[in-house]
Amino acid sequence: MEEIKTKGIIISAKDYLDSDKIVTIFSLEFGLIHARLRGVKKSGAKLAFACQPFALIEFIVIKKNNFYTIINATSIDQFFDITADFDNYIFMLACLEVIQKTIKENDPDEDMFVLLLKTFKLVCYEHILPMIAFIKFMLEAMNLLGFKIELERCAICDKEVKNDFRFSFDYNGLICENCSNKLDYLELSKGEVAILTKINYATFDNLKNLKFLSRNDLVSVISLLCKIFRLQTDEEIVSIKKFL
Ligand SMILES: [Zn+2]
Repeated sequence: MEEIKTKGIIISAKDYLDSDKIVTIFSLEFGLIHARLRGVKKSGAKLAFACQPFALIEFIVIKKNNFYTIINATSIDQFFDITADFDNYIFMLACLEVIQKTIKENDPDEDMFVLLLKTFKLVCYEHILPMIAFIKFMLEAMNLLGFKIELERCAICDKEVKNDFRFSFDYNGLICENCSNKLDYLELSKGEVAILTKINYATFDNLKNLKFLSRNDLVSVISLLCKIFRLQTDEEIVSIKKFL
């Protein structure tokens, strides 16, 4: 059996038999994989760190048919600040959920992998508000997954949208006054649109310079993004549902 080296971010881990766990990993080389970690529930298990959600780990695995078994692991970054703070934890858990629901087995996605790591780093090392980091993650992820939202021009006629901000879920973007006749839309406030556009156009390095006063607007933007995600993928982001 071949030994394979891969880098991966831990999504979740489930108990398996008496002392093992099945770890779900977002692997850089293989997309989503499920791998068995033997004996990890025994006290003093030396690879216990390799089943902690959010951790970036380098694994040695063996693959038999479609089953992976972890035979060794080295920690690259455990991102401890994510689990040390409730808001960090909840919003970064929502990012893991998005990954779990969109990345497929044997279908690597390097762009999404890099995006997830950059988002963890924003929260842990730049101390960006986790809600802002989550909004940035969602905007970038939607772009990568093929359902980028239109924020500047009418999603139907391409006219610039300036004052009335009408969001159409059918067209996945803002629509102008003319086009909004007879269509269902959600009226967005100036504050909500400002959050969306500022975060969308800021680079990861510039996010720390953005200042937002309204937590309510951040929460409603997150609700909007979660609804768009649900409509586009048929998947619900459950980890932040209670929070919204
Ligand atoms: Zn229009």
